[in-house]
Amino acid sequence: MDIDSGLAGKVALVSGGSRGIGRATVELFARDGMDVVFFYRDHAQAAQQVVDAVRAAGGRCEAMRADITDAAAVNDAVEHIVERRGRIDVLVNNAGIVRDNLLGMLEDEDIRAVLDTNVVGVFNLTRAVARHMISKRSGRIINLSSVAGDKGGRGQSNYAASKGAINAFTKAMAVELASRKITVNCVAPGVIETEMSQQVRELADDQIKARILLRRYGQAQDVAHAVWFLASRFADYITGQVLHVDGGFKME
Ligand code: NDP
Repeated sequence: MDIDSGLAGKVALVSGGSRGIGRATVELFARDGMDVVFFYRDHAQAAQQVVDAVRAAGGRCEAMRADITDAAAVNDAVEHIVERRGRIDVLVNNAGIVRDNLLGMLEDEDIRAVLDTNVVGVFNLTRAVARHMISKRSGRIINLSSVAGDKGGRGQSNYAASKGAINAFTKAMAVELASRKITVNCVAPGVIETEMSQQVRELADDQIKARILLRRYGQAQDVAHAVWFLASRFADYITGQVLHVDGGFKME
């Protein structure tokens, strides 16, 4: 059996590559020989550190500041990448935010910001990239959902709704793009040790671990491995799926 992933030389675009799961994905793709571009929004220094680390290891990587909630900025950034590289083979819709609170305590802005980033941002970027994939009759789209997308979560109504939308979006896009030879899948992480989950881990460490069959949090690399698999040729015959990477997470 040939165990080459088929990814070397291909172009990947990862949103939110400056930290956490996105960073682990950028590094893994680059290590497998991909030419990786990633978007970030606020943390220019962190983004530069990722670029430096990838290049020091002999990989190809570029960071671009682009807010995925800004459709025009996303279109410009994607056109720039395609002009210079000719194509985008793999899109990872990874960037996301949380603004947890009980429903009655959520401000309008907490609801809008989460839906704008986690849902509208994914529409903006997928629409900008998919037209290029369609013209090539080839592509992989991998969306980061969450265990919250189908299991809920106290104080997470905005976030859970956004990730449930991503699960549904993934299935609809898989149907729409299959005839163009583009696969669309989701990875749904459980609780992963990144800045995003820091507050909830500090508040309820034992309670959360009690719900995870493997009794530990996941690492960003655990999720990146699943994203890499779905991008690779080993996932050629998989589309419209939600792959859970959660250590066996149960609600109660
Ligand atoms: P982090 O908070 O560690 O990193 C988020 C990344 O997204 C950063 O690189 C950030 O860039 C970027 N980002 C945020 N908003 C925007 C925006 N509007 N435009 C462009 N980039 C943006 O998150 P994680 O790595 O933990 O999470 C990654 C994905 O995995 C998310 O979709 C999240 O919902 C999902 N997930 C995470 C879980 C976890 O336990 N950590 C569990 C389940 C799902 P910058 O820093 O420059 O602003």
